[in-house]
Amino acid sequence: MPEETIFSKIIRREIPASILFQDDRVTAFEDIRPQAPTHILIVPNKLIATVNDVTPEDEAALGHMFVVAAQVARAQGIAEDGYRLIINCGDHGGQEVYHLHMHLLGGRRLGPMLMRRD
Ligand code: AMP
Repeated sequence: MPEETIFSKIIRREIPASILFQDDRVTAFEDIRPQAPTHILIVPNKLIATVNDVTPEDEAALGHMFVVAAQVARAQGIAEDGYRLIINCGDHGGQEVYHLHMHLLGGRRLGPMLMRRD
């Protein structure tokens, strides 16, 4: 079993977070250090450390994350203008919390996907 992170405690409501949506598979809450006017994390309730740890039995929960992302984006009023979904994986991906999660970012034009290095 991978080691639990702070996200498991948020999912179990043991520590405070601004939870916008929760059902038996997924929890969505506001990122504590927002990088855009809307910055929400969509997290499977089951602890999966990274995308590398995904198995076929996770397909339903992972697919559900997209359904919830679209639902939350509509509820936040950013669906029409558009938004960005990001999943970081591991060290080079910039992952800080080792409980797989999708960032939902929007509320302004986000610019290029990656910083250019040239
Ligand atoms: P990542 O770099 O993809 O692992 O992203 C982790 C994200 O979790 C960062 O954007 C953090 O700001 C966010 N984060 C860390 N701790 C909390 C927390 N207690 N509540 C909400 N968001 C958090």
